[in-house]
Amino acid sequence: MKITAIPLIIALVFLFTGQECRQKGTVTAKSEKIEILGIYGSPNAFWNKEINLSQLNVNAVFLNWKGINEKMMERAGEEGLKVFAEFPVLNGKGYVETHPEAWAIDRFGNRVEPASWFMGVCPTEPGFREFRMTELRELLRKFDLDGIWMDYVHWHAQFEEPEPILPETCFCDNCIRAFESATGIDVPDLAARERADWILQEHDSKWRDWRCSVIADWVSETRSIIREERPDALLGIYHCPWDDTEYDGARRRILGLDYDMLKDITDVFSPMVYHGRMGRSAEWVGENIEWFCNRLDIKPGEFPKVWPIVQAYDDPEVISAEEFGKVLRYGAGAGSSGVMMFTTNAVAENPAKIDTMRHIYGCLNSVK
Ligand SMILES: [Zn+2]
Repeated sequence: MKITAIPLIIALVFLFTGQECRQKGTVTAKSEKIEILGIYGSPNAFWNKEINLSQLNVNAVFLNWKGINEKMMERAGEEGLKVFAEFPVLNGKGYVETHPEAWAIDRFGNRVEPASWFMGVCPTEPGFREFRMTELRELLRKFDLDGIWMDYVHWHAQFEEPEPILPETCFCDNCIRAFESATGIDVPDLAARERADWILQEHDSKWRDWRCSVIADWVSETRSIIREERPDALLGIYHCPWDDTEYDGARRRILGLDYDMLKDITDVFSPMVYHGRMGRSAEWVGENIEWFCNRLDIKPGEFPKVWPIVQAYDDPEVISAEEFGKVLRYGAGAGSSGVMMFTTNAVAENPAKIDTMRHIYGCLNSVK
């Protein structure tokens, strides 16, 4: 069926009442109004097929900031869509090659290798920080955005693979000096490898705490810049969804994400519950979001909010339309007040996934 030829009568079939949606298990009596029915990726994937996002019950677009332009903002405005810019914070690819002083250093004193497609940068290198924050300010001045979604806001690692890559970093001179000045600990003047060993053996706990505070400080400064430049815009973060114990606590221990440090400075959390990519079941998405909302004591109508991002794309294995529907529902469950999927292309190229998303978003939109 050609998508552009869907007649009105078929579109009407997708207008479900709350009761029909409840019978189909999309919403429960407990469901609160879901305010964000989002897509991640350029809306052109649908617009090029002559599909308006309102036809799909979508009300928000999240996309990489480099994909935003005036024309897109204009059409998004005409369709009443909110636009949120994904802003990759600590991805150093394209930067560290020409600024080796910002290259993260591992516990053996070597420059880190890329962690599959991700190349983390040293989060304490002042030149990089200024570079990134200037980009942020310019972005906020250029477009009337509804929010900034920080991405890659963690120390060098890779959690999106079935076998995560979790190195100990960063032991560069900047980091050692910043650690010393934050904690008052005097790190002995040893060779790089011995210095790293000394820190991990003698001050492991303080080292982890400090690393988390560095990440929280990036969020805090980003928040300040947003408040200065565009006070109504939200600050969201895309983040690793592991609970406190998975991989021996690696979300905090290695990535440096401490929810207790982040919850008062983050408007919206978007756990990246890519179940297929991580080799997990669709049901895990529901369990994880429930755990997360309890962990942060998420309350309806209050900040911080939870708008998970779920997997639609077929990698490493095919995600069926039915499975995609399940993870959308689970993502919008528990204490979530929004949901989005990765990616627009993965849905736009698959008519069954388009129908699934339209139906579920219609149901979620019908809960009053
Ligand atoms: Zn460093």
